[in-house]
Amino acid sequence: MNHKRLTPHSADGFTRALLLAIIVLGLVSTLGGWAIMGMRHVLSPVLRGMFGTCTVVLLGLFVVAWRRLLPARTIGLGCLLFAVSVCALCMVLRLYFPVYGAALDLQPLYLWIPVLYVFAFTLTGHKTSLGISLAVMSLFALISLPYLVRDIDGPYANFTLQLHTVSAVLVAALYFFSSYQRRLHLAELTVGELAELSNTDELTKLCNRRRMATLIDIELEHRRERGTHFAVVLFDIDHFKKVNDKFGHSAGDEALIELATRARQVFRGMDTVARWGGDEFVALVRNVDLAEALHIADALCRHVAAKPMDGGHGMTISCGTVMAQDGDNVDSVLQRADAALYAAKRAGRNRAEGVPLVS
Ligand code: GH3
Ligand code: MG
Repeated sequence: MNHKRLTPHSADGFTRALLLAIIVLGLVSTLGGWAIMGMRHVLSPVLRGMFGTCTVVLLGLFVVAWRRLLPARTIGLGCLLFAVSVCALCMVLRLYFPVYGAALDLQPLYLWIPVLYVFAFTLTGHKTSLGISLAVMSLFALISLPYLVRDIDGPYANFTLQLHTVSAVLVAALYFFSSYQRRLHLAELTVGELAELSNTDELTKLCNRRRMATLIDIELEHRRERGTHFAVVLFDIDHFKKVNDKFGHSAGDEALIELATRARQVFRGMDTVARWGGDEFVALVRNVDLAEALHIADALCRHVAAKPMDGGHGMTISCGTVMAQDGDNVDSVLQRADAALYAAKRAGRNRAEGVPLVS
């Protein structure tokens, strides 16, 4: 099954690009704020120090993200920690040291704090994001608590209380949506896994009869539409009952698994091998004529007979090889392959027999 999913690598690349954009935005607003306050002559030494530190940290984060020195998630957590520290410091300055923080407008700062929670929920798993958000919320609540206790009628008390309420509602909403998204993702996975299960042979992990029948059907349609050629090889273990009787059913199972492995080694990437049922397997061999298909089937017989199975017992197989022809359907191709297999068994086993095309 070829489910299209983002690989970890491509997801990492996307997060990194997003982080770079966020860091650049942070740099632009830091430098912009610094310049505007400088022009208004309202920069205190503390604010100057803060702007300078922010610029250095953001430049450092940019270099780390640009040169891929750390995983994207670690850089993201670094950015989040940095943003939380800046917001916390601004809140401390504004609430408790109005002399230093007077030039900072509290309102825009409060607008940025909810963005931190959104950022946290885009970075990590939903339970970790909830943990981080609750920790950040607690930090801001702790910072503002002495102010609120001391001066509940103070100029920033109402605004600060509203910030905490909005933050709590936002975090709850983000947690709800991320849980919903997670459940949806799990449901998708289950559907994908079910589809995979319904197409796979449990013992050998090859595709199963249902999948192979579909693939042959598709290939017959390609043949009708585009004139492509393909062969079907039906192969069956010789005297498999004896393996079961002599070595036990689980040794028989092991032999089936090993035959699947050896078949994978012989057939080409463009071919498909399936367990048809019991000790019978079918291979769909694309873009070959009968001679080429017989050559591959013969190679498989030799590869299986060449060395004993893991259990130490020898094993051989017989193959019936046919080309798809005009007017074929899945049953008719398999019937001819079965006749060819029967011919191989009658001719002494451990061989590949083919049926020439009827013109
Ligand atoms: P032949 O050379 O004519 O094919 O002889 P054979 O003994 O292999 O006969 P046949 O192919 O009819 O036997 C298939 C046997 O495969 C019968 C059954 O006991 C065994 N078998 C079918 N499915 C499984 C399985 O999943 N595990 C094991 N261990 N044996 C299985
Ligand atoms: Mg058999």
